[in-house]
Amino acid sequence: MERRTLVKAAAASVALGAAAVLAGCEKKESPVSTEPGAPMLNLGKTQQWKMVTAWPKNFPGLGTGANYLAQLIESMTGGRIKVKVYGAGELVPAFEVFDAVAKGTAELGHGAAYYWKGKTEAAQFFTTVPFGLNAQEMSGWIHYGGGQQLWDELYAPFGLKPFGAGNTGVQMGGWFNKEIKSIADLKGLKMRMPGLGAEVLERLGATPVNLPGGEIFQSLQSGAIDATEWVGPYNDLAFGFYKVAKYYYWPGWHEPGSVMEGLVNKKVFEALSPDLQAIITAAMRTAYEDMLAEFTARNSSALKTLVGEHKVQLKRFPDEVLKQLGQVSKEVVEGLAAKDPAAKKIYESFEAFRKSALSWTQIGEEGYSLARALTFG
Ligand code: CA
Repeated sequence: MERRTLVKAAAASVALGAAAVLAGCEKKESPVSTEPGAPMLNLGKTQQWKMVTAWPKNFPGLGTGANYLAQLIESMTGGRIKVKVYGAGELVPAFEVFDAVAKGTAELGHGAAYYWKGKTEAAQFFTTVPFGLNAQEMSGWIHYGGGQQLWDELYAPFGLKPFGAGNTGVQMGGWFNKEIKSIADLKGLKMRMPGLGAEVLERLGATPVNLPGGEIFQSLQSGAIDATEWVGPYNDLAFGFYKVAKYYYWPGWHEPGSVMEGLVNKKVFEALSPDLQAIITAAMRTAYEDMLAEFTARNSSALKTLVGEHKVQLKRFPDEVLKQLGQVSKEVVEGLAAKDPAAKKIYESFEAFRKSALSWTQIGEEGYSLARALTFG
């Protein structure tokens, strides 16, 4: 094919991708036209990829976010890469996504980096840190603060290329059947929580357990666990936790802006032509921003349903509890940096970014929120 034709075809492919992005705002199910005779660019060999995920198939926000990413890749490549999405347990269990993509069982994965702390504890920085960066700041650190490079370095020995492929925004503190009035109320509590937040709970005498999303409801219902966190109103309503827990606590101190992760097998990624690599990168970025927009839009209406229809009692953790959680969180994160050289390097970058972000966030986002509350409550 002549160069001019190729350039034109590539431009058409980008336009097709942009149309898919716009279509995705309204209706995520079908960014690719499936009408007979609809134009479909196919420049070369078609690759059939598998995407394994840590979510129940089609689970609102997370599972559908993975579907959206797969559809974007397919439409933006003009069908050169087709992706079949597997829910947790369909091809591999939720917590084996990392290994499956590393080994090449699947070309792609969608999950969260803190699920792989058994592989490398430093991975946790790339999902969230208790009292760490909010969603906007995480995006800043990963894309403009050196985070992506550190993430690439950390995952390269495993044969993986990581991307941010979603963000839930700030999460909720969790579901409880007893009130948390002081830090002592956490003692003895068996609570589902992943990541660094789990270590904070453990230091405070609770027993954290990590369960994939699909197993939480039953565990809470049967009394195998006393409390749980999951994500926020939109996702927690979908799982129906209000049926088995009375109190819904805020804020989500342990997950202030959790990044969902898109994994690509490194050899597969590196074998792609530069245009396909650019498309995969852009699709991940689009999926990242799209998920944050969806959670932002849907959390507020879900919260209304939880409180209005299901009579969930919203509670805020007392300041004293939050202060102590903050102090222990600091010790846990510093402890991780002290024992693992990879974690230390990432911690230093993350901490420097947090310090620098604070000054702007306080007068920027927080300053604005306080100003808005003066008139609009
Ligand atoms: Ca969570």
